[in-house]
Amino acid sequence: MNSLSPELLMPAGSLEKLRMAFHYGADAVYAGVPLFSLRARENEISFEDLQVGIDEARRNNKKVYLTANIFARNLKLKSFREQVERWAVLKPDALIMSDPGLMSIVREAHPEIPIHLSVQANCMNWAAVKFWQKMGVTRVILSRELRLTEIKEIKQQVPDMELEAFVHGAICIAYSGRCLMSHYMSHRDANQGVCDNSCRYPYKVYAQKNENPDEILLQDLRDPSQFYPLEEDEHGTYLMNSKDLCLIEHLKELHEAGVCSFKVEGRTKSVFYAALVSRVYRQAIDDMMAGREMDPSLLQQLDILAHRGYHKGFLMGAPTHQAQNYQEENRTAKSTFCGILGPKKEDLYAVEVKGRIKAGDELDIFSPTTRQQVRVEKVFDSMNREKETLHPGVGLAYVKINSEIEPLSLMCQMRPRP
Ligand code: SF4
Repeated sequence: MNSLSPELLMPAGSLEKLRMAFHYGADAVYAGVPLFSLRARENEISFEDLQVGIDEARRNNKKVYLTANIFARNLKLKSFREQVERWAVLKPDALIMSDPGLMSIVREAHPEIPIHLSVQANCMNWAAVKFWQKMGVTRVILSRELRLTEIKEIKQQVPDMELEAFVHGAICIAYSGRCLMSHYMSHRDANQGVCDNSCRYPYKVYAQKNENPDEILLQDLRDPSQFYPLEEDEHGTYLMNSKDLCLIEHLKELHEAGVCSFKVEGRTKSVFYAALVSRVYRQAIDDMMAGREMDPSLLQQLDILAHRGYHKGFLMGAPTHQAQNYQEENRTAKSTFCGILGPKKEDLYAVEVKGRIKAGDELDIFSPTTRQQVRVEKVFDSMNREKETLHPGVGLAYVKINSEIEPLSLMCQMRPRP
């Protein structure tokens, strides 16, 4: 096994998430550049935030990759050239890209910026990896549809290419980057960064009454009496709603196969997700490198986050129907995120309130390396007035807790609140 510890690469959808991911153990983060990144609509990170985040990362020996992975139309080429000049000033550790035309623009204008091939490019075999290597790509983010045996073979055939693999987060029902569903359903093109998650909708399936299937007419489609509904229940079914990927139990195999970077999906997810997933995978990687078994409590920690059910994607073979969550679109959470603790002043901790906190609450507190249960004795608003309850939206407030807690610890309650 490679003696170098693999990189933990977390999403950074905002400057706050970038900071929390690093604080909780990420080695590197990826952040979208406005207009040229998938997840364009939810991108909260500005150019100024990127500058601050990259400067902070550099001081702490961490890395920031910028994602510019849309497939661009002609219309966007001019503005892309202009934007590349701005990104070059930031000196990112790499650009994550999928469009060969946009890559060639970067290669000509700024050959000093490394390019990582985005998962959107669907790199599935070692010949394709060699091709991208000739094009100047220094790292390939492997297609999520690859099996472990295929990853091993790719590394054997192209040993000097860096390989990155997704290990956690939401996945598409379609091959990444080859989905037209959202464009068809709502004119929002997934390959332009504006997917509306059409695969997560509830759908109803109908069997045709007409005995001759060749005679399906548009008229029939408009006439519900022509069809028998095949419903799972009265709400229909989420027949294309994939469960989320979770490969925490397979990090060792991936590392042995030659993967040097473990990537987590979720630029649009919460600060709690950014911090807790970083914490969990940091410990898993450190345990693996120290030769320790995986701590089973890590799976329980991942389970308290909102998710659609976990599965192992294609790593060990083709997924079965169990990789689908037919029951619900929304992710189910087993906890409520209450806030991020700040420094202690006299006997009160500052807290950035993210969920309701009541005097008397029993809460779990996570720091990067510790977990403890505490009782909230009293709560105070920003003017130091004692209250019964703090609600999200109050901003900074104060809590009295009889325990020593590190700044930037996460407060959560182990059951979702109504
Ligand atoms: S509609 Fe679903 S499968 Fe298609 S790109 Fe969006 S998330 Fe992926």
